[in-house]
Amino acid sequence: MAISNEKKMDLLLSLCKRRGFVYPDSDIYGGFANAWDYGPYGTELKNNIRDAWWKLFVHGREDMVGIDTPVIQHPKVWETSGHVAGFSDPLVEDKKTHKRYRLDHLLEEAGVNITGMSFEQMASEMVAHKIKSPDGNPLAEPKQFNLMFKTGVGVTEDTASVAYLRPETAAGMFTAWKNVRDTMRKKLPFGIAQVGRVFRNEITPGNFIFRTREFEQMEIEYFVKPDEAAAAFDMWLEQQKFWVHEVLKIKKENVVYREIPDADRAFYSKRSIDTEYQYPFGQKELYGLANRTDYDLSRHQEASGEDLRWLDQESGERYIPFVIEPTWGLTRTVLAVLCEHLDIDEADTSEGESEPRMVLRLPPRLAPVKAAILPLQKKDGLSELGREFAQKVRATGLTVEYDEGGSIGKRYRRQDEIGTPFCFTLDYQTKEDGTVTVRDRDAMTQERIKMEDVPAWIQSKLV
Ligand code: ATP
Repeated sequence: MAISNEKKMDLLLSLCKRRGFVYPDSDIYGGFANAWDYGPYGTELKNNIRDAWWKLFVHGREDMVGIDTPVIQHPKVWETSGHVAGFSDPLVEDKKTHKRYRLDHLLEEAGVNITGMSFEQMASEMVAHKIKSPDGNPLAEPKQFNLMFKTGVGVTEDTASVAYLRPETAAGMFTAWKNVRDTMRKKLPFGIAQVGRVFRNEITPGNFIFRTREFEQMEIEYFVKPDEAAAAFDMWLEQQKFWVHEVLKIKKENVVYREIPDADRAFYSKRSIDTEYQYPFGQKELYGLANRTDYDLSRHQEASGEDLRWLDQESGERYIPFVIEPTWGLTRTVLAVLCEHLDIDEADTSEGESEPRMVLRLPPRLAPVKAAILPLQKKDGLSELGREFAQKVRATGLTVEYDEGGSIGKRYRRQDEIGTPFCFTLDYQTKEDGTVTVRDRDAMTQERIKMEDVPAWIQSKLV
């Protein structure tokens, strides 16, 4: 019997909590809705994804530089970008329960095609289709709800001190463009990358870490000659596919690359493709890709009065470059990777466990722990030998766990659940000839190798 998607999510949530990937935030106060703590393994997994991304797209390319800009920038940045006026979702409130919903989501759920609809059109569709709240109650008039979190800077509370927490990292690349252009001796085309935390006051956060108010993005603004933008778009689409299938090892059949129809694109965007993943709760956006033309730099040039054009040294021509923007949600990637690689064996509830056997078949380079060192016995010096060996492997920069508690079966099972690709056991033969047995999480093969060869052996599997 196939496992239901709902059950899969339940098992994933419980595994995430039980094994230290993701905990409910502020748990000792009863939790804070839709906020999550990344536990020790979740933090390692998230960092490994971020590092693989940086390595591939920043260190791995001659045409890329990475920056890090603040969460709170000059408020003018968000006026110019259009976020103050227009970064909003249509909000409706249940008149009885006062619960709030996104009108676009309610219309879609009712089967209304909202492609290209303005806020006003959605409001009239709501009346025409007699849309009710999910609890069956009447809805109040819809409102445009701005998703930016406001804060105050400085000690006064006047309006001059109003500032915003960034809702995306992209703006930092546009505001730093002039300094990067003038200091980094790059030639077009080249990109600026950034990874960072962003904030959106989402109307309906939910689905675990899929939609939260605080999350992390990995973004690139790739600056090109206008007539090379279409080709650069195609190149970045291929790069996004490579990342999804070759780095994250997500199966092709679980991903859809959806061309956004004209009517649904922002007016400045020439082309957009969303990468959608088949989450257990439905096919939803994982990443975005857009040809933003020269919109952002033109707006910032006009508002700041700075010359943001590029000077082509050969032709002497000056122009505002076009921008291709591939964007990746980091925390959404963590969820997609967990969903994709969680293997649930329903037939097996061995050793008195209440849940079926689960193996996180994470790609080795993303796994929080690369190797577990497990002595078969604690006595006769195997414990000391195991600890010493673990420390030697750890010293080479690999994440290693030493575990001598409980039966070997239980220890394997725990490592399987946190996705450790390789378990090394020490036995009496280890004392005689300095070899250990390695068990491969997926192939389930066992092989004896020399202790001194272990770090290089693991490294060779992390490509
Ligand atoms: P959605 O339609 O799901 O609200 P969006 O189109 O507003 O997303 P973008 O503004 O394109 O999203 O943001 C870029 C990326 O950031 C998304 O592709 C997604 O991976 C991630 N992202 C956006 N909103 C959230 C959120 N609330 N929680 C977690 N990740 C998010």
